[in-house]
Amino acid sequence: MKVGVLALQGAVAEHIRLLEQAGADAIPVKKVSQLAEIQGLVLPGGESTTIGKLMKQYGFDTALQQFHQEKKPIFGTCAGMILLAKEIAGQDWNHLGLMDMKVERNAFGRQRESFEVDLDIKGIPEDFRAVFIRAPLILEVGKNVDVLASHDGQIVAARQDHLLAISFHPELTDDERVHGYFLEMVQEYRGVETV
Ligand code: GLN
Repeated sequence: MKVGVLALQGAVAEHIRLLEQAGADAIPVKKVSQLAEIQGLVLPGGESTTIGKLMKQYGFDTALQQFHQEKKPIFGTCAGMILLAKEIAGQDWNHLGLMDMKVERNAFGRQRESFEVDLDIKGIPEDFRAVFIRAPLILEVGKNVDVLASHDGQIVAARQDHLLAISFHPELTDDERVHGYFLEMVQEYRGVETV
């Protein structure tokens, strides 16, 4: 199975390492043409405004709409989750707008810019050590979105069909289970009829 990590800015090598640890071939994706080679894509953490601008500049904004329509899974972590969201609190525009949720950027405030907690994630047996860095939160989800994890009563992981979004950084641990979960999604959607 071959998957990619969008490599315009942010934590790319770390995702590649864990995807490979979880059993996939993983490549950095810098050009739209590479999307044809892969069955799933990770949108890494970083700075969502910067990645969003670069995505437009290189044509990923439209190419990823197509990738999504082909039912190829996309996994956004942190800034990547913001890129996926239909709505971003306090702003009247979005990036890809693919996932039916409203997110808030830097939602934990200055006091808690970065922290770690053990999280119970649906579909992953035993707690996962979650590293949060200036993380966004999911404020609201649509009916078709499945909440996978919450922290302090607020949503930090969710799935909608072939889209996965999480607030934290599994690529900063040695635990490949979240990446493994994503690869199972990719497996599930391989060969799915496209419209
Ligand atoms: N705060 C960043 C943003 O809003 C996301 C942080 C991250 O990806 N670690 O884009």
